Amino acid sequence: MLLDVKDLRVQFPSSRGLVKAVNGLTLSANKGEILGIVGESGSGKSMSLLSMLRLVPKPGEIVSGEINFNGDNLLKKSDREMRMLRGKDISMVFQDPMTTLNPVFPVGEQIREALRIHGLIKGERKWFFSDRKDRERERVLELMAEVGIPSPDLRYLEYPHQFSGGMQQRALIAIALAGEPQLLLADEPTTALDVTIQAQILELLNRINEEHGTTIILVTHDLGVAAEFTHRMVVMYAGLVLEQGPTRTLVEEPAHPYTQGLLNSIPRIEDRRKKIEAIPGTVPDLINMPPGCPFHQRCKYAKRECIGTELEMIEVDKGHQVRCILYT
Ligand code: SF4
Repeated sequence: MLLDVKDLRVQFPSSRGLVKAVNGLTLSANKGEILGIVGESGSGKSMSLLSMLRLVPKPGEIVSGEINFNGDNLLKKSDREMRMLRGKDISMVFQDPMTTLNPVFPVGEQIREALRIHGLIKGERKWFFSDRKDRERERVLELMAEVGIPSPDLRYLEYPHQFSGGMQQRALIAIALAGEPQLLLADEPTTALDVTIQAQILELLNRINEEHGTTIILVTHDLGVAAEFTHRMVVMYAGLVLEQGPTRTLVEEPAHPYTQGLLNSIPRIEDRRKKIEAIPGTVPDLINMPPGCPFHQRCKYAKRECIGTELEMIEVDKGHQVRCILYT
Protein backbone atom coordinates (compact mmCIF):
# COMPACT_ATOMS: atom_id res chain seq x y z
CA MET A 1 0.00 0.00 0.00
CA LEU A 2 1.40 3.40 -0.97
CA LEU A 3 -0.88 5.74 0.97
CA ASP A 4 -2.87 4.97 4.10
CA VAL A 5 -4.91 7.77 5.67
CA LYS A 6 -6.46 7.06 9.06
CA ASP A 7 -9.13 9.05 10.88
CA LEU A 8 -7.94 12.39 9.46
CA ARG A 9 -9.61 15.50 10.85
CA VAL A 10 -9.17 19.04 9.49
CA GLN A 11 -10.83 22.02 11.14
CA PHE A 12 -11.13 25.74 10.46
CA PRO A 13 -12.00 28.21 13.22
CA SER A 14 -14.77 30.67 12.35
CA SER A 15 -16.84 33.25 14.20
CA ARG A 16 -19.69 30.68 14.44
CA GLY A 17 -17.54 27.79 15.65
CA LEU A 18 -15.25 25.10 14.26
CA VAL A 19 -15.82 24.10 10.63
CA LYS A 20 -15.12 20.36 10.37
CA ALA A 21 -13.95 20.24 6.74
CA VAL A 22 -12.59 16.68 7.01
CA ASN A 23 -14.22 14.67 9.74
CA GLY A 24 -12.52 11.32 10.22
CA LEU A 25 -11.34 10.41 6.72
CA THR A 26 -9.96 6.89 6.30
CA LEU A 27 -8.81 5.72 2.88
CA SER A 28 -5.91 4.01 1.17
CA ALA A 29 -4.34 3.98 -2.28
CA ASN A 30 -2.47 0.99 -3.63
CA LYS A 31 0.62 1.21 -5.80
CA GLY A 32 -0.25 1.70 -9.47
CA GLU A 33 -3.98 2.31 -9.09
CA ILE A 34 -6.19 5.26 -9.99
CA LEU A 35 -8.38 6.12 -7.04
CA GLY A 36 -11.30 8.49 -7.54
CA ILE A 37 -12.67 10.68 -4.75
CA VAL A 38 -16.17 11.88 -5.64
CA GLY A 39 -18.78 13.98 -3.89
CA GLU A 40 -20.57 17.31 -3.98
CA SER A 41 -18.88 20.67 -3.47
CA GLY A 42 -18.14 21.09 0.23
CA SER A 43 -17.74 17.37 0.90
CA GLY A 44 -14.06 17.78 1.83
CA LYS A 45 -12.48 16.26 -1.31
CA SER A 46 -10.01 19.04 -2.11
CA MET A 47 -9.17 19.64 1.54
CA SER A 48 -8.34 15.94 1.89
CA LEU A 49 -5.85 16.23 -1.01
CA LEU A 50 -4.26 19.38 0.41
CA SER A 51 -3.91 17.60 3.76
CA MET A 52 -1.95 14.80 2.09
CA LEU A 53 0.68 17.42 1.16
CA ARG A 54 0.26 19.26 4.48
CA LEU A 55 -0.88 22.34 2.56
CA VAL A 56 -4.07 23.11 4.48
CA PRO A 57 -4.45 26.91 4.26
CA LYS A 58 -4.25 28.80 7.55
CA PRO A 59 -6.10 29.19 9.89
CA GLY A 60 -7.20 25.63 9.11
CA GLU A 61 -5.23 22.80 10.66
CA ILE A 62 -4.98 19.05 10.75
CA VAL A 63 -6.09 18.26 14.29
CA SER A 64 -5.67 14.49 14.35
CA GLY A 65 -5.14 11.38 12.28
CA GLU A 66 -2.36 9.76 10.32
CA ILE A 67 -1.22 10.09 6.70
CA ASN A 68 1.13 7.18 6.05
CA PHE A 69 3.06 7.37 2.80
CA ASN A 70 5.31 4.36 2.15
CA GLY A 71 4.90 3.55 5.85
CA ASP A 72 6.02 7.01 7.14
CA ASN A 73 3.51 9.27 8.86
CA LEU A 74 3.73 12.58 6.97
CA LEU A 75 2.27 14.43 9.95
CA LYS A 76 5.48 13.68 11.86
CA LYS A 77 7.84 14.99 9.18
CA SER A 78 9.60 18.35 9.52
CA ASP A 79 8.70 21.26 7.22
CA ARG A 80 12.01 20.77 5.39
CA GLU A 81 11.32 17.07 4.82
CA MET A 82 7.86 17.93 3.48
CA ARG A 83 9.35 20.53 1.08
CA MET A 84 11.69 17.86 -0.30
CA LEU A 85 8.81 15.40 -0.71
CA ARG A 86 6.38 17.77 -2.44
CA GLY A 87 6.85 17.81 -6.19
CA LYS A 88 9.18 14.81 -6.02
CA ASP A 89 7.53 11.82 -4.33
CA ILE A 90 4.05 13.38 -4.30
CA SER A 91 2.94 15.93 -6.90
CA MET A 92 -0.30 17.77 -7.42
CA VAL A 93 -2.18 19.04 -10.45
CA PHE A 94 -4.58 21.82 -9.54
CA GLN A 95 -7.97 22.75 -10.92
CA ASP A 96 -7.28 26.01 -12.71
CA PRO A 97 -4.00 26.07 -14.69
CA MET A 98 -4.26 29.81 -15.41
CA THR A 99 -3.99 30.70 -11.73
CA THR A 100 -1.40 28.01 -10.99
CA LEU A 101 1.17 28.91 -13.66
CA ASN A 102 3.17 32.07 -13.05
CA PRO A 103 2.17 34.56 -15.81
CA VAL A 104 5.58 36.31 -15.93
CA PHE A 105 7.83 33.29 -16.58
CA PRO A 106 8.04 31.19 -19.76
CA VAL A 107 6.33 27.83 -19.42
CA GLY A 108 9.51 25.86 -20.18
CA GLU A 109 11.38 27.71 -17.42
CA GLN A 110 8.60 26.86 -14.94
CA ILE A 111 8.99 23.18 -15.76
CA ARG A 112 12.79 23.51 -15.45
CA GLU A 113 12.30 25.09 -12.01
CA ALA A 114 10.69 21.85 -10.81
CA LEU A 115 13.81 19.92 -11.91
CA ARG A 116 16.16 22.50 -10.43
CA ILE A 117 14.54 22.71 -6.97
CA HIS A 118 15.02 19.02 -6.37
CA GLY A 119 18.44 18.85 -8.07
CA LEU A 120 17.13 16.13 -10.34
CA ILE A 121 19.59 16.71 -13.19
CA LYS A 122 23.29 16.60 -12.46
CA GLY A 123 25.65 18.41 -14.82
CA GLU A 124 29.14 17.53 -15.92
CA ARG A 125 31.72 20.07 -14.77
CA LYS A 126 34.14 21.45 -17.35
CA TRP A 127 36.54 23.93 -15.76
CA PHE A 128 34.24 26.53 -14.15
CA PHE A 129 31.19 25.62 -16.17
CA SER A 130 28.60 22.89 -15.96
CA ASP A 131 26.26 21.68 -18.68
CA ARG A 132 23.48 21.17 -16.12
CA LYS A 133 21.27 23.89 -17.64
CA ASP A 134 21.45 22.29 -21.11
CA ARG A 135 20.59 18.88 -19.67
CA GLU A 136 17.67 20.37 -17.76
CA ARG A 137 16.42 22.02 -20.96
CA GLU A 138 16.65 18.70 -22.78
CA ARG A 139 14.64 16.98 -20.05
CA VAL A 140 12.02 19.78 -20.13
CA LEU A 141 11.61 19.27 -23.89
CA GLU A 142 11.16 15.52 -23.28
CA LEU A 143 8.51 16.21 -20.63
CA MET A 144 6.68 18.68 -22.86
CA ALA A 145 6.64 16.12 -25.68
CA GLU A 146 5.48 13.39 -23.29
CA VAL A 147 2.44 15.36 -22.18
CA GLY A 148 1.54 16.21 -25.79
CA ILE A 149 2.70 19.83 -26.13
CA PRO A 150 3.52 20.16 -29.85
CA SER A 151 6.85 21.71 -31.02
CA PRO A 152 8.29 21.88 -27.49
CA ASP A 153 11.48 23.61 -28.61
CA LEU A 154 9.44 26.48 -30.08
CA ARG A 155 7.05 26.68 -27.14
CA TYR A 156 9.70 26.47 -24.38
CA LEU A 157 9.96 30.25 -24.14
CA GLU A 158 6.26 31.01 -24.59
CA TYR A 159 4.29 32.46 -21.67
CA PRO A 160 1.18 30.90 -20.10
CA HIS A 161 -1.17 33.36 -21.85
CA GLN A 162 0.11 32.02 -25.21
CA PHE A 163 -1.07 28.51 -24.27
CA SER A 164 -4.68 27.33 -24.56
CA GLY A 165 -6.43 25.99 -21.40
CA GLY A 166 -5.72 22.38 -22.40
CA MET A 167 -2.05 23.13 -23.15
CA GLN A 168 -1.70 24.95 -19.82
CA GLN A 169 -3.06 21.89 -18.03
CA ARG A 170 -0.56 19.72 -19.96
CA ALA A 171 2.24 22.05 -18.82
CA LEU A 172 1.08 21.65 -15.20
CA ILE A 173 1.11 17.88 -15.63
CA ALA A 174 4.67 18.14 -17.01
CA ILE A 175 5.68 20.10 -13.87
CA ALA A 176 4.03 17.43 -11.71
CA LEU A 177 5.85 14.66 -13.61
CA ALA A 178 9.27 16.33 -13.44
CA GLY A 179 10.10 14.65 -10.13
CA GLU A 180 8.85 11.24 -11.35
CA PRO A 181 6.40 11.07 -8.42
CA GLN A 182 5.06 7.85 -6.98
CA LEU A 183 1.77 9.59 -6.18
CA LEU A 184 0.02 12.18 -8.33
CA LEU A 185 -2.87 14.10 -6.78
CA ALA A 186 -5.22 15.60 -9.37
CA ASP A 187 -7.79 18.05 -8.01
CA GLU A 188 -10.60 18.45 -10.56
CA PRO A 189 -7.98 18.69 -13.35
CA THR A 190 -10.58 18.99 -16.11
CA THR A 191 -13.26 21.20 -14.56
CA ALA A 192 -12.05 24.36 -16.31
CA LEU A 193 -11.81 22.64 -19.73
CA ASP A 194 -14.32 21.83 -22.46
CA VAL A 195 -15.37 18.21 -22.92
CA THR A 196 -13.07 17.24 -25.81
CA ILE A 197 -9.98 18.62 -24.03
CA GLN A 198 -11.25 17.03 -20.80
CA ALA A 199 -11.18 13.61 -22.46
CA GLN A 200 -7.64 14.20 -23.77
CA ILE A 201 -6.33 15.22 -20.33
CA LEU A 202 -7.96 12.18 -18.69
CA GLU A 203 -6.46 9.97 -21.40
CA LEU A 204 -3.06 11.49 -20.66
CA LEU A 205 -3.41 10.74 -16.92
CA ASN A 206 -4.45 7.20 -17.79
CA ARG A 207 -1.37 6.76 -19.99
CA ILE A 208 0.92 8.12 -17.26
CA ASN A 209 -0.59 5.58 -14.86
CA GLU A 210 -0.08 2.70 -17.30
CA GLU A 211 3.39 3.62 -18.55
CA HIS A 212 4.99 4.80 -15.30
CA GLY A 213 2.88 2.88 -12.77
CA THR A 214 2.16 6.21 -11.03
CA THR A 215 -0.57 6.02 -8.42
CA ILE A 216 -3.16 8.72 -9.13
CA ILE A 217 -5.81 10.14 -6.83
CA LEU A 218 -8.39 11.92 -8.96
CA VAL A 219 -10.77 14.25 -7.18
CA THR A 220 -13.90 15.03 -9.16
CA HIS A 221 -17.52 15.98 -8.62
CA ASP A 222 -18.29 14.23 -11.94
CA LEU A 223 -19.23 10.63 -11.25
CA GLY A 224 -19.17 9.88 -14.99
CA VAL A 225 -15.48 10.86 -15.17
CA ALA A 226 -14.66 8.77 -12.09
CA ALA A 227 -16.61 5.81 -13.46
CA GLU A 228 -14.64 5.84 -16.69
CA PHE A 229 -11.11 6.55 -15.48
CA THR A 230 -10.66 5.06 -12.02
CA HIS A 231 -10.05 1.58 -10.64
CA ARG A 232 -11.53 2.26 -7.21
CA MET A 233 -13.81 4.97 -5.92
CA VAL A 234 -14.37 6.69 -2.59
CA VAL A 235 -17.63 8.61 -2.11
CA MET A 236 -17.26 11.51 0.34
CA TYR A 237 -19.96 13.50 2.07
CA ALA A 238 -19.60 16.11 4.82
CA GLY A 239 -15.92 15.30 5.30
CA LEU A 240 -16.53 11.57 5.70
CA VAL A 241 -16.33 8.50 3.46
CA LEU A 242 -19.81 6.99 2.95
CA GLU A 243 -18.91 4.27 0.49
CA GLN A 244 -15.80 2.87 -1.17
CA GLY A 245 -14.98 -0.03 -3.42
CA PRO A 246 -14.07 -1.10 -6.95
CA THR A 247 -15.42 1.42 -9.46
CA ARG A 248 -17.40 -1.16 -11.41
CA THR A 249 -19.15 -2.38 -8.24
CA LEU A 250 -20.02 1.14 -7.11
CA VAL A 251 -21.41 2.03 -10.52
CA GLU A 252 -23.35 -1.20 -11.08
CA GLU A 253 -24.42 -2.00 -7.52
CA PRO A 254 -24.18 1.18 -5.42
CA ALA A 255 -25.05 0.34 -1.83
CA HIS A 256 -25.31 3.72 -0.11
CA PRO A 257 -28.42 5.85 -0.75
CA TYR A 258 -26.17 8.86 -1.42
CA THR A 259 -24.17 7.01 -4.12
CA GLN A 260 -27.46 5.78 -5.62
CA GLY A 261 -28.72 9.38 -5.64
CA LEU A 262 -25.55 10.65 -7.35
CA LEU A 263 -25.83 7.97 -10.04
CA ASN A 264 -29.52 8.67 -10.62
CA SER A 265 -28.74 12.33 -11.17
CA ILE A 266 -26.50 11.62 -14.19
CA PRO A 267 -28.32 12.30 -17.49
CA ARG A 268 -28.35 9.22 -19.77
CA ILE A 269 -28.69 9.46 -23.51
CA GLU A 270 -30.84 6.27 -23.68
CA ASP A 271 -33.39 7.65 -21.17
CA ARG A 272 -34.24 10.85 -23.01
CA ARG A 273 -37.73 11.18 -21.62
CA LYS A 274 -36.90 10.22 -18.08
CA LYS A 275 -36.72 13.08 -15.62
CA ILE A 276 -33.33 13.38 -13.95
CA GLU A 277 -33.62 12.70 -10.23
CA ALA A 278 -32.09 15.25 -7.91
CA ILE A 279 -31.03 14.63 -4.31
CA PRO A 280 -33.28 16.92 -2.25
CA GLY A 281 -31.77 19.39 0.21
CA THR A 282 -28.18 20.52 0.59
CA VAL A 283 -25.04 19.33 2.38
CA PRO A 284 -25.27 19.80 6.17
CA ASP A 285 -23.73 22.74 8.01
CA LEU A 286 -20.17 21.61 8.77
CA ILE A 287 -20.22 23.60 12.03
CA ASN A 288 -23.36 22.00 13.43
CA MET A 289 -23.14 18.53 11.97
CA PRO A 290 -26.25 16.46 12.65
CA PRO A 291 -25.52 13.61 15.06
CA GLY A 292 -25.43 10.15 13.46
CA CYS A 293 -25.58 9.68 9.70
CA PRO A 294 -24.66 13.01 8.06
CA PHE A 295 -26.98 12.19 5.13
CA HIS A 296 -30.13 11.52 7.17
CA GLN A 297 -31.81 14.86 6.41
CA ARG A 298 -31.81 14.00 2.68
CA CYS A 299 -32.21 10.24 2.73
CA LYS A 300 -35.52 8.63 1.72
CA TYR A 301 -34.71 5.54 3.84
CA ALA A 302 -33.87 7.47 7.02
CA LYS A 303 -35.16 5.94 10.26
CA ARG A 304 -35.02 7.01 13.85
CA GLU A 305 -31.91 4.83 14.48
CA CYS A 306 -29.94 6.73 11.82
CA ILE A 307 -29.81 9.75 14.10
CA GLY A 308 -27.60 9.90 17.14
CA THR A 309 -25.46 6.80 16.51
CA GLU A 310 -21.97 7.06 15.02
CA LEU A 311 -21.87 4.62 12.11
CA GLU A 312 -18.82 2.56 11.19
CA MET A 313 -17.93 1.35 7.69
CA ILE A 314 -19.40 -2.09 7.03
CA GLU A 315 -17.93 -4.53 4.49
CA VAL A 316 -20.76 -5.63 2.20
CA ASP A 317 -18.53 -7.44 -0.28
CA LYS A 318 -14.81 -7.97 -0.74
CA GLY A 319 -13.24 -4.50 -0.80
CA HIS A 320 -16.68 -2.84 -0.87
CA GLN A 321 -17.57 -0.89 2.28
CA VAL A 322 -20.50 1.29 3.16
CA ARG A 323 -21.50 3.49 6.10
CA CYS A 324 -25.24 2.94 6.39
CA ILE A 325 -27.59 1.40 8.93
CA LEU A 326 -29.40 -0.55 6.18
CA TYR A 327 -26.43 -2.96 6.10
CA THR A 328 -25.91 -3.57 9.81
FE1 SF4 B 1 -30.11 6.78 5.04
FE2 SF4 B 1 -29.98 5.92 7.53
FE3 SF4 B 1 -28.40 4.86 5.68
FE4 SF4 B 1 -28.01 7.33 6.55
S1 SF4 B 1 -27.82 5.47 7.74
S2 SF4 B 1 -27.98 6.65 4.47
S3 SF4 B 1 -30.06 8.03 6.86
S4 SF4 B 1 -30.63 4.75 5.75
